[in-house]
Amino acid sequence: MLNIVIFGAPGSGKGTQSERIVNKYALNHISTGDVLRAEIKNGTELGKTAKGYIDQGQLIPDALMIDILASVFDSFKDSKGVIFDGFPRTIAQADALKNMLAERGQDVSIMLDLEVPEEELMTRLIKRGQDSGRADDNEETIKKRLHVYHSQTSPLIDWYKQEGKYHHINGLGTMDGIFAEICEAIDSL
Ligand code: ATP
Ligand code: MG
Repeated sequence: MLNIVIFGAPGSGKGTQSERIVNKYALNHISTGDVLRAEIKNGTELGKTAKGYIDQGQLIPDALMIDILASVFDSFKDSKGVIFDGFPRTIAQADALKNMLAERGQDVSIMLDLEVPEEELMTRLIKRGQDSGRADDNEETIKKRLHVYHSQTSPLIDWYKQEGKYHHINGLGTMDGIFAEICEAIDSL
C-alpha cells in the first residue's frame, strides 16, 4: 500500500492536492476535517462534540480522533493505499497512526509537508470563509488555528524527519506546479 500523510498548516492546500493525488494514484482519502463536518451536518452526537472544538479553533481530543481514523481506515476494502489529510495533528496521533498501520502490516510511505508563508495562509482562509462560509474561516478563529498548528502540530515535522519519511513541498505557486512536485516525490518511492 501507498500510505501518504499530507501535512501543512490550515489553508496550505491539503484538500486540493489530496483530490488530485487520489485521482492519479487511485487511493482512498481520509480527511478528518471532512469527516467531522459531515457529522456536524448530520447532527450526530459526535458532530455536536466536534463543533464545540472546531468553532473555538481547537483540536478534537486525540482518543476520539484516533477511534474515528481507525474505523474509516478499516472501512476500505482492497485498498491500494490511503491519503491521510488532516491527520496526524499531534505527536500522540502520529504514534497512534504508526501503531495502527503496524498492526495491519502497513507503514507510512511518505509525509509531504506543504509549506506556505503565514500571510498567504491568512489571505487564503479569509477568502475561503467568504466564498464557502466555513464557520471556522474567520479572522479570530484562523489566528487560534494557526497558533494550535505551531504549538501542537508543527513538532511533527521533526518527528517524521526522525522516521525518515519527511519530504518538503513548496506550497506556494500554481496548483499544477505544486502537484507536479508532489508526483515527483511519490514516483521516487
Ligand atoms: P486545510 O485547509 O489545509 O484542509 P484546515 O486546518 O483548514 O486544513 P481541516 O483539516 O478541515 O481544516 O480541519 C478543520 C478542524 O477540524 C480543525 O481546526 C480541528 O478542529 C478539527 N480536526 C480535523 N482534523 C483533526 C485531527 N486530526 N485532530 C483533531 N482535530 C481535528
Ligand atoms: Mg481540508
